[in-house]
Amino acid sequence: MSTPRPGSHPVAMKTLLSKAKFLVGARRAVQFAEDEGMEVAIAGRSNAGKSSALNAITGQRGLARTSKTPGRTREINFFSLDSTRRVVDLPGYGYARAPEAIRREWGHTVERYLEGRRSLRGLVLVMDVRHPFTDFDERLIAWCDSLSLPLHILLTKSDKLGKNRQRASLLEARQHLAGYGDRVTVQLFSAPKRLGVEEVYACLASWLGAPA
Ligand code: GDP
Repeated sequence: MSTPRPGSHPVAMKTLLSKAKFLVGARRAVQFAEDEGMEVAIAGRSNAGKSSALNAITGQRGLARTSKTPGRTREINFFSLDSTRRVVDLPGYGYARAPEAIRREWGHTVERYLEGRRSLRGLVLVMDVRHPFTDFDERLIAWCDSLSLPLHILLTKSDKLGKNRQRASLLEARQHLAGYGDRVTVQLFSAPKRLGVEEVYACLASWLGAPA
């Protein structure tokens, strides 16, 4: 388990992400975007900071707002980057205390996606650095592992911690994930400070291939 090596095309990745355009919102598998080319998905507990991370990474405020439009919060939202690459915003999952029915609903919507998606190259999981590894996060991590799906974790809202706490949290997370090996990587992130965006670009570039 390690931080991804900086890719050779982070700037190109940034440009590519800035081109993200809403493609389709799906509640059922038949509504998914065509399963061809390559895509990465982003997931996280509600309020963890997923939308802010997506905005920071794409440099587009309106993007995650699309996913937060009433009626779209339960959808899987597909955004195209170019003709062969996509970013997919998975619906935020409930708080740890959310009723089991809601958790089941999230699972059902996303299960079909994660288990059957051939173009999916990796999942970005957003966790609040101050409250990481909820039961649900743990289940998702184990699930990705069982699917051999690469996972990159953002410990977001890092700006809320001092440098020492940031370092300690990253270390603890790495130790916690040590059993998963190289398929799971983790980094610090902050949307308002744009801390760690280059690291995200490097990871996405390695998953999606270098943009032309
Ligand atoms: P989502 O429900 O996971 O999409 O979470 P949002 O992106 O809407 O963020 C939830 C709250 O956390 C909002 O009030 C954001 O402004 C705040 N937030 C998100 N990311 C950060 C961050 O990196 N730093 C700080 N300080 N606040 C953040």
